[in-house]
Amino acid sequence: MDTNVTELRPASLSNRAKARAKNAAEWAAAKAKLSKATAAPAPTPAPPAEPPPEPTPALPAPAAVEPTTHAEAPKTVCPILQRILCWKRPFESKAELEFMTWLHGEIKLRGGEAQVRTRGNVVVEIKRSDAKKCGTLFSCHTDTVHHSSAEPQQKLVYDADFGHIFLDKNAPNPGSCLGADDGAGVWLMLEMIAAKVPGTYVFHRGEERGGVGAHAMVVASADWLRTFDLAIAFDRAGTGDVITHQGGLRCASDKFGTALAAALNTAGGFKYTLSTGGTFTDTKVYARLISECTNISVGYMNQHGQDETLDYTHLVALRDAVLKIDWDSLPADRDPAKEESMPSNYPYVPGAYKGWEGFDRGPWKGYNPAHDDLDRYPSKPASKKGKKGKSAPPPQQRQLELELAPEDEFANMHVDDIVALIEDDPATIAALIVDLASEVKALRAKVEYMKGALK
Ligand SMILES: [Zn+2]
Repeated sequence: MDTNVTELRPASLSNRAKARAKNAAEWAAAKAKLSKATAAPAPTPAPPAEPPPEPTPALPAPAAVEPTTHAEAPKTVCPILQRILCWKRPFESKAELEFMTWLHGEIKLRGGEAQVRTRGNVVVEIKRSDAKKCGTLFSCHTDTVHHSSAEPQQKLVYDADFGHIFLDKNAPNPGSCLGADDGAGVWLMLEMIAAKVPGTYVFHRGEERGGVGAHAMVVASADWLRTFDLAIAFDRAGTGDVITHQGGLRCASDKFGTALAAALNTAGGFKYTLSTGGTFTDTKVYARLISECTNISVGYMNQHGQDETLDYTHLVALRDAVLKIDWDSLPADRDPAKEESMPSNYPYVPGAYKGWEGFDRGPWKGYNPAHDDLDRYPSKPASKKGKKGKSAPPPQQRQLELELAPEDEFANMHVDDIVALIEDDPATIAALIVDLASEVKALRAKVEYMKGALK
């Protein structure tokens, strides 16, 4: 491992650890007491006439047993995961392309064969031992929401007591996020390939740009995608979700989701449950072609910002669990041709998206759609000059508040909702269309550039 890649410092024994050690000692003492008390067949005291029992030889001290089944945090972080998380990978940046090259090598080292598909998506097939067709597609994405990869490496901190990985915000050139979204999924799939878990693995590009890689796969390989029954994404925040709906549309049946949650919980002692709260990941794009399209929590939290963390203890336990599951045995119950919305509490309310201020919020702060560098997210504020400045409506006309980038919002919406938005605020929508069109134009130029760069 390169010395400049990372500098994980083990956390010193914190108060939490001390408390836990104390509890463990107390628990061990209580258990020892308990086993002594229950060792005798009956609590009746022996008749005094009988000789006293032989003193038993000293038993080895009982092992310190945690009074919980929660897994211990690993002492160190797998160097491959460190490498992935240290690497800033905004879509189509030079750093991301270098990452794809590195990923090829890692797949090969694990005995897999990396096929480069449309838009640079990487597909790896691990065949079943019985030579039957494998019906499961596994999904992750290689890009991150880093604003810039001008300094392509970042440093991490690992709290070995808590079992969480953090961004080292005090290091020079800290990144704008940890990138466990979706570095966790990339690592998990490499582990599964190494363990020869049968399935087809798709390392998607451009998920953070609205599923650019996945959409390209649908255009180029729809019939191939239709041969799968299950599409499992490892790209959900938290530690307990099996996603059945993305963007308000059903993408997986409750029957399948329940079976998958049960399989995970049995294999890993987790508490996975069904969730209708999915927004978007690559498998949503396949929902009209593949019966069951889900997304599973992989342990990252507060993604898309510097406070992003990764529950490494959970990720390692999840890795151990996914290696045990017979994926092809899970039921495929949903008809992908039928579209089903959420029956109620769908979050979109016409007119609710108030106060949109352009690309000046959250991870989009400073984002200029006409920007045409390799790094898509300049850290400096967007220029006031230029086409966007001229075409944008005056502030009082801006009525939309978007949680995501416009293209992600639109990709998640029903046509009816978009029509409602246009009726609600035609000037703002017109300005958005101009923005999106200029972005498509910029993307086309970039594709041409990348074609040249890859030759
Ligand atoms: Zn993601």
